[in-house]
Amino acid sequence: MILRLKRHHIELLKQEAKKVHPVEACAMLLGKASKNEAVVRKVKVTPNKLKSTERFEIDAEMVAAAITEAEKECLDFIGLFHSHPAPAVPSTIDLKYMKLWGDTLWLILSSIDDKLAAYQLNNSTVEEVSIKME
Ligand SMILES: [Zn+2]
Repeated sequence: MILRLKRHHIELLKQEAKKVHPVEACAMLLGKASKNEAVVRKVKVTPNKLKSTERFEIDAEMVAAAITEAEKECLDFIGLFHSHPAPAVPSTIDLKYMKLWGDTLWLILSSIDDKLAAYQLNNSTVEEVSIKME
């Protein structure tokens, strides 16, 4: 699996992470997904409902609104983004929630070293997804 992101999407996510640090920033990724590739077309930054440095939650109505918006624009809800004031690897809590989100991609930014990494659950195994910046 490859996740394609535009440079301005990454800049937006980094800015948001910096702004709310050390609270985890979060966003939803809309775009086009096929079996081997997901292309981000839109980044919807949302507040972290929990204002936590260890976990995040996006308001359910905002998730529903993003899904409706995606459907209207013939896009897919392809992933969730959040930042960590820690390394860019899924936490125990993330792993639990990944199971609820099926094949959704998880994009994590470390606000310590600016490292960006993406993951996807594949038959209950977490796999790292390569990120292509364009
Ligand atoms: Zn996390």
